Amino acid sequence: MSSESNISWETLKDVAVTLDSYRIRALIDAKQEILDAGIYSEKQYYKLLFKMFDEEHLKYRLFNYLNQHNSNNFDSIKQFSKKNSIDIRKTLSLLELLKNENLIIVNKINDTIEGNNDAIKATVFKDFDIQSRFVKPSEVKSIYEPVKAVFESNICSGCGLCAGVCPVNCLNIYNGFGKLDEDVCIKCGMCYFVCPRTYLPIDILNMTQENSSEIKSVSTIGHYIEVYSARTKIESIAKVCQDGGITSTCLHYLFDTNQIDLALGAKMSGTPWRPEPIVIQNKDDILLTTGTKYVNNPTLSVLNDLNKNPTKLAVVGVPCMMQGLLKSKIYNIDIPALNQIKFRIGIFCMESFSYESFLKICEVLKVNVKDVRKTDINKGKFFIYTNSGDELTVPIKEITHLAREDCDICFDLTSEAADISIGSIGSPSGWNTVIIRTQIGKDLYSGLIENDLIESKKIKDAKPGLPLLEKTAKSKRNKCTKHIDKKKNEKIRYPQY
Ligand code: SF4
Ligand code: SF4
Ligand code: SF4
Repeated sequence: MSSESNISWETLKDVAVTLDSYRIRALIDAKQEILDAGIYSEKQYYKLLFKMFDEEHLKYRLFNYLNQHNSNNFDSIKQFSKKNSIDIRKTLSLLELLKNENLIIVNKINDTIEGNNDAIKATVFKDFDIQSRFVKPSEVKSIYEPVKAVFESNICSGCGLCAGVCPVNCLNIYNGFGKLDEDVCIKCGMCYFVCPRTYLPIDILNMTQENSSEIKSVSTIGHYIEVYSARTKIESIAKVCQDGGITSTCLHYLFDTNQIDLALGAKMSGTPWRPEPIVIQNKDDILLTTGTKYVNNPTLSVLNDLNKNPTKLAVVGVPCMMQGLLKSKIYNIDIPALNQIKFRIGIFCMESFSYESFLKICEVLKVNVKDVRKTDINKGKFFIYTNSGDELTVPIKEITHLAREDCDICFDLTSEAADISIGSIGSPSGWNTVIIRTQIGKDLYSGLIENDLIESKKIKDAKPGLPLLEKTAKSKRNKCTKHIDKKKNEKIRYPQY
């Protein structure tokens, strides 16, 4: 909690509102339940509580500041940031919270650029129109409900982050579907806060990725520094990898150079082709995770197990996971396991399937799941390679109805919220397309080159190259917009992007 030397009446008012906040009250009231659950130590509990208090306090300070006028705009946000010496992105993230909590109304005003056919580049941010509602926060119904509402509306991506932060361990994600133990839930709303499918402040995610204080439109594949086509030179990885083996090579290098102690990813469970989360402990474990898995896996649900010991962590995951992690980083609540994440390694993802749907695809292709050696999506087709050497294929459009419903409302093909994104679209067979997005990603990739671990060329020198990747990413965005519009028209819950 910040110490104040001269406590003003305004400050006292902000503190009073903060103490009345649903989330703070829930954390204070359930202290014993949280400690009994054993996920956080007492020290970690207090750190989390005070950090949440500081964040809520700042949010209500912004709320009271905005309430001094009937309406505000982007300049008001800049002034508040300057007055309080905080980053503009921080203020924008608080504005987003106030908007989602129905305490203010925010309209984004865009300018349209004439004569440009690219829908994403056709609009540029001009200003905000921020209207105060002059309501008392305690009289507005809290939005911080458990994520059960997300599960029930079929928009949960199954990323597992909610279960990975729940302070009393009352969430379970299995086979991509979540379950809540209502008798144990303390209604702290932490799960709702971090979930990528409640609300996602996309502008702030993009600004953070670019380390920019300007609100800009981004390309169809998100902000990036450079794009390459690459493949591993490590023989043990090359022998078993799906494409170019770059994800495994990144982990190999990070373990070798002691930049990480652990990594999170997906491996096959004892049931054929049903993946499960794995905490990768060393270089040998990396080989357990190779190969693309199209069945949903709640990788982030194991974060709760990693609070106890300080560690340096890399997370390998699909775009929805990267979104949840970057959102949590922006709001910077003191969850120890989240603080330990040093590298976000994103993989491309078009859609995922439930295990039952994967078995149906096997049925369509007349193959026993035990005989499947490798799966792939390429050139609009789903491939299964069998142990006996057969290559079986079905057009994606014939099985797309089997994909998870929530993947319809996913706009992100290339893990735009990662430090480095890796996939196959855009590169020739046996190579990966690698998108460098942040300085962390850039340093990691430079390390692979300097240590002679990979072959690398600019994507402009690879076929089919960036145009195919951009085209595929655009078609995923369009599909997402269509499905979200449908949900809006039918007045069904949809994520606030
Ligand atoms: S999207 Fe992720 S965080 Fe949100 S409810 Fe589903 S599993 Fe939990
Ligand atoms: S389910 Fe959500 S609201 Fe309930 S205790 Fe866990 S994190 Fe808090
Ligand atoms: S399509 Fe999107 S929501 Fe579905 S698994 Fe992939 S990243 Fe997650």
